[in-house]
Amino acid sequence: MSEQIPHWLDKQAELNPDRLAVETYMGEQISFRDLRKRSRGMARALIDEGVKPGDHVAFLSDNTPYFPIFIHAISYIGAVAVLLNTRLTAPEIAFQLKDAHISHFYIGKGYEGIADKSAVGLEMKVKAIEELPILNELDYPLRRELPFEEVYTMMYTSGTTGHPKAVMHTYGNHWYSAIASALNLGINSNDKWLICLPLFHVGGFSVLMKNVIYGMSTHLLEKFDAPLVHDAIIAKGVTHVSVVTVMLQRLLRLLDGETYPKGFRCMLLGGGPVPERLLQETSKRNIPVFQTYGMTETSSQIATLGPDYAFSKIGSAGKALSLAELRIDSHKRGEVGEILVRGPMVSKGYFNRKEEDGIYLRTGDLGYEDEDGFLYVVDRVKDIIISGGENVYPAEVESVLSEMPGVRETGIAGRHDEVWGEVPVAFLVTEAGVTVEDVRTFCNKRLAKFKNPAEIHFVDALPRNASNKLLRRKLFHLLDGETSE
Ligand code: ATP
Ligand code: MG
Repeated sequence: MSEQIPHWLDKQAELNPDRLAVETYMGEQISFRDLRKRSRGMARALIDEGVKPGDHVAFLSDNTPYFPIFIHAISYIGAVAVLLNTRLTAPEIAFQLKDAHISHFYIGKGYEGIADKSAVGLEMKVKAIEELPILNELDYPLRRELPFEEVYTMMYTSGTTGHPKAVMHTYGNHWYSAIASALNLGINSNDKWLICLPLFHVGGFSVLMKNVIYGMSTHLLEKFDAPLVHDAIIAKGVTHVSVVTVMLQRLLRLLDGETYPKGFRCMLLGGGPVPERLLQETSKRNIPVFQTYGMTETSSQIATLGPDYAFSKIGSAGKALSLAELRIDSHKRGEVGEILVRGPMVSKGYFNRKEEDGIYLRTGDLGYEDEDGFLYVVDRVKDIIISGGENVYPAEVESVLSEMPGVRETGIAGRHDEVWGEVPVAFLVTEAGVTVEDVRTFCNKRLAKFKNPAEIHFVDALPRNASNKLLRRKLFHLLDGETSE
């Protein structure tokens, strides 16, 4: 295995100079030649600002063309890009700036106020990315190679189970992640991947890596907007989209009786649990949904349901990708246990934290493999409720409740119980008119007794993190001064 490869953007500018690299919904088009030129120009501007190899440079921005340009500029310098979640509050950003040892902080349009507030008292330069001078790249000692073992990016986990942690990714991690995905999905020269997930999370970011590693075109949206995604699939030659469940639900509503064009070949669906009913619906409409399982630590997908099984193994996240391995920490096949993964796309660890031992990464997720070796993700280890010796998986109860008419959102968490040890408790956001009795009747018919919520609370909204993921550990805080049983 070679320890370094030619800079991937140099390669694309050499092999496919005129090919479209990035287009925006506003009609801006950037070729690989332009992308290289602008990225190297920005690298020079950053060097003039004092950014050095190894520096940790934070970036807080929506999905604009500055994003790819910035991350490539960083790679031409050999610095580390630390990507911040735009939905964080000023104190949360301040924590991450300190935690990640940031020396320079660049921001996109609209984040000036929050950036200034969060950097108070910290020694670092804060600057709007758009204010960097536009330079050409000549005569600067820019990187020509990318060393596989070097840390390139740091991204924070979503903070669903605790404090977000800064995951370090090397060039090699991103490279192998892109290659493993290509071995599964294939590459065509007319592929165009639409990005509507935030680029500061690995789900969006990994598309920018595929962009330069495959020489594949991308269609960049500032954020998820169902009509824009719909139109791009129908009329702009988009062949792939990565989405999370709520996005797919909204897209389905827009699709109505129509179908997507034949050339549309991959709706990559991941990031969290997927209700089976949604998968049945997409299967009925022949939408090429690929359910995938992954996390920040695995640089995006680690398992994906291959095209041949998309409809016969509904609900499964497939098998480990070609370069990855997956094991279930249980006594025998078919039993639920913690999911363990390994492979060259798996991060070596978190910045500023002690390294974990072991060849496999313990994901903190529970799952099982069916008799054919297909993975089914069940829930998080930390959220499991043990009631009278039986395991209750909140995700299963939530999934059942989400099918009840009038129920908009559901959250399940366990509370201590003298008799059963723990019991599940339901927190629901509903339309007017839904009663506790209705919910009980619905659950009784569909769930074993020990899975039935012992209490049902109607609330206005569920606690979610900046990635919009449900924070089950905060559900009981809703009761401090909250509504009914
Ligand atoms: P933190 O690690 O800080 O608690 P997080 O785990 O939510 O936050 P991410 O790395 O953004 O941070 O999310 C990865 C997690 O999302 C996985 O570990 C898993 O729990 C969940 N997930 C991803 N894909 C799926 C899937 N297909 N089905 C169920 N859960 C999934
Ligand atoms: Mg996690």
